[in-house]
Amino acid sequence: MSLIVQKFGGTSVADTEKIRAAARKAIRAQKAGHRVVMVVSAMGKNTDTLLDLASQISDEPPAREMDMLLSTGEQVSVALVAMAIHSMGSKAVSLTGGQIGLKTDNSFSKARIQSIDTGRIERLLDAGNIVVAAGFQGIDDDLNITTLGRGGSDTTAVALAAVLGADACEINTDVDGVYTTDPRLLAEARRVDVISYDEMLELASLGAGVMHSRSIEFAKKFEVPIHVRSSFSDQDGTMIVAQPESETAPVSGAALTRDEARVTVLGVPDVPGMSQKIFSAIAAQKVAVDMVVQNVGTSGKADVSFTVAGGELKKTLAALEGILDSLGADGVTHDDQVSKVSVVGLGMAHQKAVAASMFRALAEANVNIHMITTSEIKISCLVPRDQANEALRAVHEAFSLDQRPSDAKTWNEIKASNAKEADVADVVARLQNDALEALTLTDISIVPAQARVTLDGVPDQVGVAADMFEQIGEAGIFVDMIVQGYDGEDGSTSVSFTVEQADLDAAQKVAREICGKHSMRDVRGASGITKLSVSGIGLRSHTQVGTVLFEQLASAGINVEMIATSELQVNVVIQSDQAGDAATRLKQAFAEALH
Ligand code: ASP
Ligand code: MG
Repeated sequence: MSLIVQKFGGTSVADTEKIRAAARKAIRAQKAGHRVVMVVSAMGKNTDTLLDLASQISDEPPAREMDMLLSTGEQVSVALVAMAIHSMGSKAVSLTGGQIGLKTDNSFSKARIQSIDTGRIERLLDAGNIVVAAGFQGIDDDLNITTLGRGGSDTTAVALAAVLGADACEINTDVDGVYTTDPRLLAEARRVDVISYDEMLELASLGAGVMHSRSIEFAKKFEVPIHVRSSFSDQDGTMIVAQPESETAPVSGAALTRDEARVTVLGVPDVPGMSQKIFSAIAAQKVAVDMVVQNVGTSGKADVSFTVAGGELKKTLAALEGILDSLGADGVTHDDQVSKVSVVGLGMAHQKAVAASMFRALAEANVNIHMITTSEIKISCLVPRDQANEALRAVHEAFSLDQRPSDAKTWNEIKASNAKEADVADVVARLQNDALEALTLTDISIVPAQARVTLDGVPDQVGVAADMFEQIGEAGIFVDMIVQGYDGEDGSTSVSFTVEQADLDAAQKVAREICGKHSMRDVRGASGITKLSVSGIGLRSHTQVGTVLFEQLASAGINVEMIATSELQVNVVIQSDQAGDAATRLKQAFAEALH
């Protein structure tokens, strides 16, 4: 018999009427022949109310007591939902995190799930009950109550779906699915029938608020199809599965991260170990670094630029202050009036000129690009904040995101191809091997025989990036990584990109033409470089990946020439003759996490 996990978020159980509606939805699913497990969040804004209460008592409440307090929100709603089901003549039992045997580590307020004991849930389902489980909470080895972090009920729901071998995990929420971009920002945003895990992971980390990132990581790891739909109707929403909506569209979604700040460390000696010093000092302040651009140095010095969330700028500058002298760097500049526009799509990995199209769209909207980073399925541009909305609109339109791709799969095709028999034995075996939410690294790989071209003194003006990459595309050259950052000297920027070794001469020739046309300072090319990629799930939420990577490279005396990070990959460009050594060291360092 099929099993469905139905998650209801706070807005979907905000009052007693909505609680009854959620109960009816679960009963309908049960009557249609499914075994039903509900996962429920705290009513409405109850978690915020509890947080506020705590702050009135203490500035620094003990973390353990905070989790004790916050977990009560979910306890209220599961009891009420179970009562509602009873009052409608069906059977239901509510359970707390501890009662479903959801074991976590003891990092209060951001606990990670280690295991879930399904015995009790199975017995209750066998006896004909709807099981109503409290989201967001668990217990540690000492039976302390823990919580999983804001929005954590999604994670509970997907984790339960994985261990129970559910056919689907329904996320019932106040939106009716996933959109090509935030519909509150752009009326043209289109609801999609399907989006891939990888695309959703990238979009979620860019702030698309539909789901908790960790829940999507779980779903990907255990191949749980997720169905995001409105709790207020029975309409189909969006399926999050392994495959994308279209096989041909290069871009599936666009996102705006409004409140970013750019920081540049100027004149960093271009020797191994510098990135590690900078980023470990910032990581020690628990600040997550976002776009990272390291320009290849001229005269033995490099500039390292990166972005952080606007609210973390102060902390970041303070952390840098402490290490500037020991770095031997020239200084630090920053800009707190910037936003990041990104496009995401599995299709762009194998298509030429996607970046050029994005740059052209921004140029036509008269938006100047301050910084660029690309990874396999994401391109991000840093733009002036006062033009952020126009920038988003321009790229959304450029990739026709408002229109359904002609080869998009139909709803029934998606459902049919994902209606697989869950391999419960396999999931259980994998669960025994490692903690549920342990870091998953899937691969450490090298792409040899690459070359780099760097343009210095690129005027920081509208349309320059578009011109450059269109011209390179017209010459038939496939560009892989692109980074553009500040070089601070005269307000100009420097742009580096990688191509296949065999294309270096052609690429340099085009670059020299571009250099002349836009009066840039210089073109430099380097061959004999290799791209080293660490791939996995949750690389950004497990910040130690970057730290370990830089530490390993630094201790081997390996200089990092370019860096690009995303939710799914950390890519660095290094000298080819050091690549073998680097890969071996990383495989050793990550041995435990690597499967
Ligand atoms: N109630 C928790 C929160 O508001 C968990 C959740 O809603 O997912 O963050
Ligand atoms: Mg919530």
